[in-house]
Amino acid sequence: MHDAPTEQSTDVLVIGGGNAGISLAARLHRKGITDVTIVEPKSTHHYRPMLSYVGAGLNTVEEMSRPQHRVMPRGVRWIQDRVQALDPVARTATLSSGRVRYRDVVICAGSAPDWDLVPGSAEAMAGPSASTNYTVELAPKTWELIRDLRRGTALFTIPDGPAPTPQIGQKIMFLAADYWQRRGVLQDIEITLLTPTATVFGQPAVDRALEPWIERYGITVLTSAQVRSIDAGARRLHAMVAGQARELPYDLLHHSPVHRAPDWIAAAQLAAAGSSYADVDPRTLQHRELPHVWACGDAAALETTSSGGALRQQTKILAENLLAVRDGREPTAFYDGYTVTPVTVQRGRAVFAEFDRDNELAPTIPRVPLLAPSRLLWFFDLEVLPRDYWNVILRGL
Ligand SMILES: Cc1cc2nc3c(=O)[nH]c(=O)nc-3n(C[C@H](O)[C@H](O)[C@H](O)COP(=O)(O)OP(=O)(O)OC[C@H]3O[C@@H](n4cnc5c(N)ncnc54)[C@H](O)[C@@H]3O)c2cc1C
Repeated sequence: MHDAPTEQSTDVLVIGGGNAGISLAARLHRKGITDVTIVEPKSTHHYRPMLSYVGAGLNTVEEMSRPQHRVMPRGVRWIQDRVQALDPVARTATLSSGRVRYRDVVICAGSAPDWDLVPGSAEAMAGPSASTNYTVELAPKTWELIRDLRRGTALFTIPDGPAPTPQIGQKIMFLAADYWQRRGVLQDIEITLLTPTATVFGQPAVDRALEPWIERYGITVLTSAQVRSIDAGARRLHAMVAGQARELPYDLLHHSPVHRAPDWIAAAQLAAAGSSYADVDPRTLQHRELPHVWACGDAAALETTSSGGALRQQTKILAENLLAVRDGREPTAFYDGYTVTPVTVQRGRAVFAEFDRDNELAPTIPRVPLLAPSRLLWFFDLEVLPRDYWNVILRGL
């Protein structure tokens, strides 16, 4: 860790040391850019896909955490601070502790829940009956609520706007249903899923894979649903469902909030009108107006749903294109919007929904039926991917 002097400069400035920032910085350094700086305020790095398993009581927050200094790529400088403003014309970033000049900047600052969008949602999260796996602080509470529910109504929401792996709320829903079934209380619990999609998942082959499990657990699916407000005191959720206003009581609510990117992106005029997300060309990951600005991961508007699994491709493509442009060439690599949502349908079985920007299946694991719930995919998601994350993905390999 280095304290930032009031003014310093770097060749490539990477804003955010999460999955995107660390993998990208490692790649750029390996490709010969020796002066790469990451700005990241946090001291602890999290493998966030594990949040679903923390919420299901199968992993702990400790198991998904490493000290940030241990995941910093060798040879890359870390400024432990927060970017407050960007001036993309002067090519400077303002941090709490000073300014950094750069030649290229890559926005990898992720996104955060927009609690203001749904009135009452923040109050509900602070109350005794609602939680979300979308924050490290609340995921352990999800498990406490699931563990303690014996009867009543459980609601699970899917965001009707951008969020990391938006359909991941189904993973905790199925794991909760499986847990209640094993405990013999499922018949006393009514489960409802609210999703903005027209079908369960919104991709025909994935729908076919999940529908038998929806039936098995007796889950009611409300499609074309948007959460409008939550009354935490009365434990009621207000939603529009297929154009009709609905009020739904709950004893347990797992809410997946719509997210927004950091405000300084739009303040620097780097977001499209009406959006908070970095307005890059979704195929090249270069900003549409400013060639020295790049973005990938959850903070970028990429016309696909974001996920950690998408970042291997994105960071590879971005690094290649940044070097091509420095060479005076046009970008040479293109991102097809590949993304992935692993859905665990019961303890011990999962499917892997991999698809592209056109919502077409885009399987990457040969010879494995990815939409047939299997022990292999469960093991892959729970055991193999976390190891791969710490040892391979964060090294930009
Ligand atoms: C509950 C949950 C389950 C998920 N499950 C899966 C899954 O099963 N499979 C999958 O592929 N993906 C999954 N994801 C998605 C995956 O975790 C994200 O897509 C991935 O972490 C995005 O990486 P990122 O680097 O873009 O953002 P982040 O990981 O959020 O990192 C952004 C970083 O930027 C930093 N930052 C923010 N603001 C600033 C600033 N102003 N200055 C400097 N730094 C800043 C933050 O501190 C943070 O460290 C899940 C996500 C959640 C929340």
